Amino acid sequence: IVNYSNISKSYGDLQVLRNIDLDIAPGEKVALIGPSGSGKTTLARLLMTLEEPTSGTIEVDGEMLWHQKTNGKLVKANEKHLHKVRGNIGMVFQHFNLFPHMTILRNVMEAPRNVLGLSKEEAMERAVTMLKQVGLANKIDVYPAQLSGGQKQRVAIARALVMRPKVMIFDEPTSALDPELVGEVLEVIKAIAAEGEMAMLLITHEMDFARDVADRILFFDQGRIIEQGPPKRIFNNPESERLQTFLSRFN
Ligand code: ATP
Repeated sequence: IVNYSNISKSYGDLQVLRNIDLDIAPGEKVALIGPSGSGKTTLARLLMTLEEPTSGTIEVDGEMLWHQKTNGKLVKANEKHLHKVRGNIGMVFQHFNLFPHMTILRNVMEAPRNVLGLSKEEAMERAVTMLKQVGLANKIDVYPAQLSGGQKQRVAIARALVMRPKVMIFDEPTSALDPELVGEVLEVIKAIAAEGEMAMLLITHEMDFARDVADRILFFDQGRIIEQGPPKRIFNNPESERLQTFLSRFN
């Protein structure tokens, strides 16, 4: 459902991604692990068209997002096209960015109303279903300030899921949370993953979580995929020295 082909990205002299090729199948859960600054977030941001690649091609659900022509010229999809592609992708960041002046229910209803054009009743029904799924049915009428960090992040997850994306990106969804709130958010993500049909790109420093949820782990270092494979293989038999060193920090 997602295809990166020969993607590179530089900021000035700093090369952040180097010739990345990556295919994500429909429903596949892929976890990106690797040291800070290795390019994981940049890879995800390219998919949301929040960043522009320096070279290469990205396709989502058969639709070209960034396309490199044979003459080397990089072409971005037109706005109408982009709108459609972005609609297939949901993203949850480290920081939740809820609308502070809206209730939880309104926060989750906003995009289905304004982007999908659903009726108030339809949007509300979908939003309530999602909020139940993340365990917040009893909080629909409160404001974000009245929630814990873990609850806020669960609202952010509901807000992304309510759009029924084909791909969900989670970029370190728990790294801004107090340690005792991490578990509840990871449990919600695991439950969503277990439902199956959505592809997921998970950027995480939680190795146990990556092992439990992912079908495939990619180890990133210095803008390259150094090693990839099923969680068991990656965690039990890391081949490269860099991955061995990286994992030893978590033991
Ligand atoms: P972390 O685990 O800390 O989130 P990461 O693997 O996600 O790290 P990126 O956020 O993709 O890494 O950053 C890769 C490199 O690109 C870093 O060295 C970062 O400083 C640099 N970088 C990111 N965004 C920009 C920008 N807008 N301008 C210049 N450099 C940037």
